[in-house]
Amino acid sequence: DQKERLQKVIAQAGIASRRAAEDLIVNGRVQVNGEIVRTLGTKVGPKDQVAVNGVPIEGREKLVYYLLNKPRGTVTTNHDDKERPTVVELMADVPERVYPVGRLDYDTTGALILTNDGDLANQLMHPSGRVDKVYLAKVKGIVSAEQLEPLTRGIKLDGRKTAPAQVAIEWVDKNKGVSMVRITIHEGRNHQVKNMLAKVGLPVQKLKRERYAFLDLMGLQPGEHRKLTHEEIKKLK
Ligand code: URA
Repeated sequence: DQKERLQKVIAQAGIASRRAAEDLIVNGRVQVNGEIVRTLGTKVGPKDQVAVNGVPIEGREKLVYYLLNKPRGTVTTNHDDKERPTVVELMADVPERVYPVGRLDYDTTGALILTNDGDLANQLMHPSGRVDKVYLAKVKGIVSAEQLEPLTRGIKLDGRKTAPAQVAIEWVDKNKGVSMVRITIHEGRNHQVKNMLAKVGLPVQKLKRERYAFLDLMGLQPGEHRKLTHEEIKKLK
């Protein structure tokens, strides 16, 4: 059965969250084959024409899911005003139009999901923060456990406390005055890891996301991507 619930189809098209899609339906803003449908849970097949606010959802694409090992020197957007290379350009062999789930900084490397499933993207980026993001950060300074401790309780960034993070010291190079820290966070604020570490006196020199949820970089060189397996997609949802 290829039929799916109307609110899911709207959410997957990236038009609204599932919750907002339900409101659109109840408020009479959604048409199926030209008729207003207000019943939640109405099922539609691939041939049904769905329109929101009178605008048809375009040929509903097959949903695809990729994991990219983002290389340094790429922006996590579909288009960059400064003409810098984008992660989407690295996916040139993918016929569907995919979007990054969240962002990594220009100089950050590592695990990034790209998909055209707007519904899953919304779920993963939800501030409830159920997704673990594990980073390896090379920092300037000789790290001590005491220095990192505040991060495990949460610190104030822009007036708002961060959720508790897990931290571990990987190594310390006393000669060079640098250290490697592994940090797991659950939110996705702008420059969060860099700002958290800077706040405890450890400027980040290099940052790599080695895991997103349960997805690590095994088998992927920087710049390479692979399809997620059916099991992985199911587990993410
Ligand atoms: N935190 C950062 O500071 N930068 C990233 O790219 C990701 C998390």
